[in-house]
Amino acid sequence: MRHFDFKNGHMHCEGVSLSDIADQVGTPVYVYSSATFERHFSVFTEAFKDQDTLVAYSVKANSNIAVLASLAKLGAGADVVSGGELARALKAGIPGEKIVFSGVGKKPAEMHAALTAGIHVFNVESQAELDVLNSVAIEMGKIAPIAFRVNPDVSAGGHEKISTGKAENKFGIAWSSAEAAYAYAATLPGIKVVGVDVHIGSQIVDLAPFETAITKVGGLIKRLRAQGHDIQSFDVGGGLGINYGNNAVTPPQPSEYGAMVKRLTSDMNVKMIFEPGRMIAGNSGVLLSEVVYVKDGEDRKFLIIDAAMNDLIRPALYDAYHDIEAVRAPGSNMTEVLYDVVGPICETGDTFTKRRMLPEMEAGDRLVFHSAGAYGAAQASQYNTRPLVPEVLVRGGEYHVIRARPTVEDILAGESIPDWLDAP
Ligand SMILES: *Cc1c(COP(=O)(O)O)cnc(C)c1O
Repeated sequence: MRHFDFKNGHMHCEGVSLSDIADQVGTPVYVYSSATFERHFSVFTEAFKDQDTLVAYSVKANSNIAVLASLAKLGAGADVVSGGELARALKAGIPGEKIVFSGVGKKPAEMHAALTAGIHVFNVESQAELDVLNSVAIEMGKIAPIAFRVNPDVSAGGHEKISTGKAENKFGIAWSSAEAAYAYAATLPGIKVVGVDVHIGSQIVDLAPFETAITKVGGLIKRLRAQGHDIQSFDVGGGLGINYGNNAVTPPQPSEYGAMVKRLTSDMNVKMIFEPGRMIAGNSGVLLSEVVYVKDGEDRKFLIIDAAMNDLIRPALYDAYHDIEAVRAPGSNMTEVLYDVVGPICETGDTFTKRRMLPEMEAGDRLVFHSAGAYGAAQASQYNTRPLVPEVLVRGGEYHVIRARPTVEDILAGESIPDWLDAP
């Protein structure tokens, strides 16, 4: 069931017309479907319903507190990578004991906040970090539950900027030092070893690298238990790819992924932790934009739209593909035109796509970028003093602005001119 589809000649998100949202909230704007978030989450948990499982949604994919709150209602936990994301998860009603804390550069204040919240586990990425966590915990009179994020040296991920599980990447404990790291952790009074964690990359469209990594880590868990460590949980991270519509790849269904994980782990006697991000959020949202000008170049036509790389950076950053569709259903007699779709920012990189065949459009027409629910709004910036792109959450026939568009005054409010410059 598609939750972004045409009704009465206009694309809708569930029961709400995107044209109405564009008229009332303005463009550019992200629009999310509650039903899609919920379906993706349920499909995933369904696969593990008879196993002890924690699905810790990766907050960085889409961190709006309304999105987090809707997942919290379904029982989701959270994978956070900063004190800020921890605060979001708690504010959205995700209990501390369902939160895991990942990331290579956790600072003492963030560890303090996470220990105060009583999080489920710290995914520790280096011995230096472990030492700091040990001191913070001792100072607070607490014991920090930890898993090491191990680096299985597995190649995965569609793009070098989102591959994380190779020996050359900055992530995790090197495979060859994992057992020594656990032996050291066991000597620290502020630390309790509870699990093992792995995350090999993102937008992975093939089950094989997951299978290799899980099998390798399964062997490690056996060895660690033989060495006396009480390994209770196995966090397999996130990374399952989604279909962006370019037919280049067909990622496995979440159910196939689930079946594979189940087959490899059912006799390990561990609590399984998952950190899906893109798989939950990616196809739950679109970026809605309006054509500002159509410009005839020397050898091509440009569609200049009011969304830009600051609103959706994936094409500029990872050469990512997004399906583009007109909001008004193309009639049977419509002409198709090859367009370069570009934003207004003063950078050549502010190009969403080149030579894409689209229905002929004119200024004022609206279009959407599909599959923009993950790593879209969450990576948006105010570059070129363009107000942070707003977000709208739809549920059935109603919608709510879950992040308002700031005014330019709001943007400037945090800046100030020092006295020595004779402020006006
Ligand atoms: C980014 C990230 C995830 C989520 O990755 P997806 O590809 O969005 O599923 C999970 N765990 C960690 C540690 C991450 O850094």
